[in-house]
Amino acid sequence: MSEPTAPEPEETAPSAEELAERKMRFLFALRSKGVTDQRVLGAMERIDRGLFVRNIFAGRAYEDMPLPIACGQTISQPSIVALMTQALETSPRDTVLEVGTGSGYQAAVLSCLVRRVYTVDRHRRLVREAEGLFRALGLPNIVALAGDGALGLPDQAPFDRILVTAAAEDPPGLLLSQLKIGGIMVVPVGQSDTVQSLIRVRRLESGYDYEELRPVRFVPLVEGLASD
Ligand code: SAH
Repeated sequence: MSEPTAPEPEETAPSAEELAERKMRFLFALRSKGVTDQRVLGAMERIDRGLFVRNIFAGRAYEDMPLPIACGQTISQPSIVALMTQALETSPRDTVLEVGTGSGYQAAVLSCLVRRVYTVDRHRRLVREAEGLFRALGLPNIVALAGDGALGLPDQAPFDRILVTAAAEDPPGLLLSQLKIGGIMVVPVGQSDTVQSLIRVRRLESGYDYEELRPVRFVPLVEGLASD
């Protein structure tokens, strides 16, 4: 039988200076990756990523890296969240659809910038946990729903902006059809497990304009509702 080990000393809460320093480093990392939009930087400063990573990786929440969350999914790298939000060119009156709630972090950031955010995930558990955080943070303009986000939300459409945070082989047609004329969709496109391309689609009076932004890597967009 092994000896009982002494309990770990309790971690002390970071001091005000440590918190300020951590925030400064976090924002510096975003700027150095090309995030220039002050509204986006302000939203990223306001929403504490640490609240959205509630597992053994919590201590790394302020580093610029993706981290595992429940249901085998990931919370995206903060610089990618910021660059995708910037690419979406939001304005305060927009209604936005996010596909892939995950931890809820991206939706929380968006909620600081637009009128209303609808966010959909195929895992009910992720939706439930994200809703709890939105409530705790007092973010009343987010509606989180469980469902297959590739189908969009026909009852709430059309949207000013659509952000897809899981990779599709092509921009999903139903989502394109739920974009307003003049609207913008940002979506990672490509096979899973390879490098994908982040694409920005603008809906024109007739047709769509596609622009390739950067290589990215996301979990795949999967059809249908998950069992959890
Ligand atoms: N935006 C998230 C990270 C998304 S990870 C954040 O800020 O934390 C990708 C998410 O897409 C996963 O949670 C996965 O469950 C979800 N997803 C994959 N396919 C989906 C689909 N068809 N409909 C809705 N959500 C989907």
